[in-house]
Amino acid sequence: MSQVKQVLQVHQVESDEDASMAFAIGRRIRDRRVAQGLTVTDLAQRLGRAPSQVSLVENGRKELKLSELRQIATALATSVEVLMNAEPPSRRAALEIALDRAQRGSVFASLHVPSLAIRKSLSDDAIATILALHDEIQRLHQERAATPEIARRANTALRLDQRNRNNYFAHLEEIAKDLLALIDHHGGPLSQRGASDLAKHLGFSLHYVGDFPKSTRSITDHRNGRIYLPVNLRGIDPRSALLQALALHVLEMKEPQDYEELLFQRVETNYLAAALLIPEASAVEYLSVAKNARELSVEDLRDTFAVPYETAAHRFTNLATQHLDIPVHFLKVHDSGVISKAYENDNVVFPTDALGSVEGQIVCRWWAARQVFSMEDQLTPYHQYSDKPAGTYWCTSSIQNTPSGVFSVSLGTTFEDARWFRGRDTKKRFKSTCPDERCCRRPSDALASRWDGMALPSAQLNSSLLAAIPTGTFTGIDRVGIYDFLETHAPASAE
Ligand SMILES: [Zn+2]
Repeated sequence: MSQVKQVLQVHQVESDEDASMAFAIGRRIRDRRVAQGLTVTDLAQRLGRAPSQVSLVENGRKELKLSELRQIATALATSVEVLMNAEPPSRRAALEIALDRAQRGSVFASLHVPSLAIRKSLSDDAIATILALHDEIQRLHQERAATPEIARRANTALRLDQRNRNNYFAHLEEIAKDLLALIDHHGGPLSQRGASDLAKHLGFSLHYVGDFPKSTRSITDHRNGRIYLPVNLRGIDPRSALLQALALHVLEMKEPQDYEELLFQRVETNYLAAALLIPEASAVEYLSVAKNARELSVEDLRDTFAVPYETAAHRFTNLATQHLDIPVHFLKVHDSGVISKAYENDNVVFPTDALGSVEGQIVCRWWAARQVFSMEDQLTPYHQYSDKPAGTYWCTSSIQNTPSGVFSVSLGTTFEDARWFRGRDTKKRFKSTCPDERCCRRPSDALASRWDGMALPSAQLNSSLLAAIPTGTFTGIDRVGIYDFLETHAPASAE
């Protein structure tokens, strides 16, 4: 929990704040220098530095140590306090500071316009107009944001945290290892029997029932040491549902109070369940052999450990960088093109909205995650190279039919690392210039002139809302239904 929160605050706010602060201090230094009739070279001489260093400082491109700031303050016959004063020294400086801050923000990043050098020739009125436009775009984006701000922030923070860990959670791998040792499991896939044994070792009996409350995957009764699971899992691997219930127990998780906590619990329980289904040691042994033979394949991992494709791709993402030294990206996309989950540490650039959110965005139609939907044969693994602005990537994709819709699950890596994978010899190759609209979002002039004003599509419910909020809600849990259920199914001897 705290990690997600920390990432959110440290990476999103402070780094921007620091940069803006450096720029503001730089502007005050320049104002003070100019007021004293000094040139950059004059000040540089007083400091015993190159003029280029002074320019870097004045333009906020270099962060100063306190000792350096003191030296500059002395050279300008002022104090550190004056240079650090939060009030901008002049209207002009205030405008420049605001423009600099705006150009570092996500609204400008999402517009893909080159950033404007802040020169003397840029008039105050021009800066004020740009700032007014910027603020209005930001306001519109926030107004239109279909998902709650907290959900976007939590998703973004989580993606960053996963990236920093290379998608590998060492503490959960340790716990998985200890749990498997409890039932003397020494490698290979974990069977349904093994999962039941684990439940027994942790003090639970299992009860499969038909009248299961909606929107719950499992219910754990701590009073009687029971785990209830639905008879009909609607396509979910029965081991997954059980292992996730056990993971909640082992990780001592309480009912989540907000979205962030729910998301965090989902990620950790999913990870631990997958780490039990595909134990680290056996998987790494298996994957290392496959890498040496240049035969890495998500399908093989799926078949060897008898898990759904998404579990195999997820697990591959966890282990690839840590153990095989291969950076990867993972992408789950609805057949409408909307991103449902996305993680990367190979620098592939996902589409984002103005607030930096990936979930709910539409993926380029030339990426494997979209192209795979046009394949008639959905059983043969799909591979393609994509030339993207950030470089060339190789991806493998598979289509999954789930109770909540049809999705593609993709695993990708850089061109260089494609050599370890089966399917690297594919002839399929597409060019994507997204986020440039001319790539795949704007109709050709010929089509536009033929159809503009002649078509009236009926919009679907904004699917970004559905994508960013996990199915199964924390607020919507029917407590009455669950307590009734527990009363009905509790053993007769219970008080
Ligand atoms: Zn595109």
